[in-house]
Amino acid sequence: MNIDQTKIPQATAKRLPLYYRFLENLQASGKQRVSSSELSEAVKVDSATIRRDFSYFGALGKKGYGYNVNYLLSFFRKTLDQDEVTNVALIGVGNLGTAFLNYNFSKNNSTRIEVAFDVDQNKVGTELGSVPIHHLDDLEKILDDSVSVAILTVPSSVAQNVADRLVASGIKGILNFTPARLSVPQNVRVHHIDLSVELQSLVYFLKHYPM
Ligand code: ATP
Repeated sequence: MNIDQTKIPQATAKRLPLYYRFLENLQASGKQRVSSSELSEAVKVDSATIRRDFSYFGALGKKGYGYNVNYLLSFFRKTLDQDEVTNVALIGVGNLGTAFLNYNFSKNNSTRIEVAFDVDQNKVGTELGSVPIHHLDDLEKILDDSVSVAILTVPSSVAQNVADRLVASGIKGILNFTPARLSVPQNVRVHHIDLSVELQSLVYFLKHYPM
């Protein structure tokens, strides 16, 4: 598995975490192999793109067999672990935001929430999980080049406005936990995590991939 990382197109590299998470779920449920059409349905990437992506790292699916889940996972682990440390901002220290600050991805050394923002005066000026909470008014003043990713856990009614300000402050990636669909410039990446959709998908798995 000696693959030159620089040869993997950026668009392919960006899909790796998506594949990785899904494959981890498959492995946990005891599945040894997966077809590109199964993957396609689950990660919402067309199967031709998946086949092309996988061909870059030498994973050639066999007709009637699919891809070996363990092989793919060990490749992804290696690739994703090489990421440098990414500093993250969190906006909206409500129930979900509070949980993230306390959790702070402590099992993952390559990402860390450095700073949080809210508009609630009772929260501003305090710390949670040793992350300082600032007022949203100070967003532009505090965010600098060292923070490239933001987690959005604000009410959906203000999500677009906050996203616009994040983009103007140089944020390149937004993990959107609000139900709002965000409009951002093409050079900004939004990953939308709708927890109720994820729950539905679990129910689907239980039905269609019984253990
Ligand atoms: P809680 O019960 O603590 O209010 P919640 O998750 O149910 O949590 P939400 O109404 O979803 O509450 O708001 C999430 C958080 O976002 C709250 O802490 C709220 O103060 C904060 N918030 C609301 N508007 C903004 C905004 N424009 N910018 C930043 N944070 C905001």
